[in-house]
Amino acid sequence: MLNHHSACRVAGFCGWAPLLLLILWLGAASPVVAQEAEPPPAPDKVIYLTFDDGPSGYTQPILDVLARYDAKATFFVLGRAAAHQPELIEAIYAAGHGLGNHTYNHPSLPGVGWQRMADEVAGTANALGGRDSGCLRPPYGARSAAVASNAGKLGYQLVLWSIDPRDWARPGARAIAERVISRAHPNGVVVMHDGGGDRSQTVAALEVILPALRDQGYRFAAMCRDGVMPPAQKQAPPPMPPGSAPILANGATLDAYGAAADEPPPVLGVGAITSPAAGAAVRGQTPVLGIATHPAFRKWQLDLILEGGGETFLAVGESQAPAAAELVVWDTTLYPDGNHQLRLRVVHEGLNYDEYFLPVTVANAPAP
Ligand SMILES: [Zn+2]
Repeated sequence: MLNHHSACRVAGFCGWAPLLLLILWLGAASPVVAQEAEPPPAPDKVIYLTFDDGPSGYTQPILDVLARYDAKATFFVLGRAAAHQPELIEAIYAAGHGLGNHTYNHPSLPGVGWQRMADEVAGTANALGGRDSGCLRPPYGARSAAVASNAGKLGYQLVLWSIDPRDWARPGARAIAERVISRAHPNGVVVMHDGGGDRSQTVAALEVILPALRDQGYRFAAMCRDGVMPPAQKQAPPPMPPGSAPILANGATLDAYGAAADEPPPVLGVGAITSPAAGAAVRGQTPVLGIATHPAFRKWQLDLILEGGGETFLAVGESQAPAAAELVVWDTTLYPDGNHQLRLRVVHEGLNYDEYFLPVTVANAPAP
């Protein structure tokens, strides 16, 4: 209104001004304009995307997708991967994402003692330089009272998750996206993977997840940096597939995997690797016994996972008949030194599959 007269001089329609003001007033009172008014402030819908097991060749593509949607995330890195790719660690940090510690070699922490756990965490802290935030994600989500206590002594907070689309099982980008979108909730923590194998499905799923949740009003925030620590979490379920009998070989217990022993799951599939035993040290040529059954069974596959990264195919069994079981005794040479996992993958309906892991230590026979 202060400029009313000068506007008249410039625009030259002073005679129309009262009518124009009336039209504007009527317009402001109309329902059409009222719909354009700001809605009352909604509670902040934050969701935390997290990525484990990197960095790898899939990290940069994931950073690129996140950047296009101005989304922040948190990367729980493996020290042995980070140590060789400091440029990716810097790229993650420079883009505003959080960084957390996922151990150096990806052991199941309830199976290792204090010193090994301290070394695993320190190795990754070293690889992260000053970027380590004090967030520790235990491999497989496996934890125990001792692991929680040791993490505290080391100055770390255990960070789990509330939404697990099981992208590591590669159920298809669409399935990954649908699982995340349908289970999203404010302050949710989503676990996905930027390392440990082919993650192209995860990259593709992000192209669906990010716009869908953004349209629902979510913003994607980083934690484990700049003082932003994880939201209070319900204890996430262990990553064991629902209904599975985990690989329980020679004295291993459900507790070692963080599962609730008083909640026997419905049987959807069963896998077992009975030799070598969980945590066993094996040397040179060794038999590996695998067995798998499933109501809608297609096939199973046994792999050796080398330090969480490379995979060595060991054996496969197939059946056309539902509820069939396959059994293979495999005599093979497990050649690299280190702490690995045997993975039994049971393929069933829709080419989905469940996976079962058994940690083993592979020790080479001395060179002749
Ligand atoms: Zn992991």
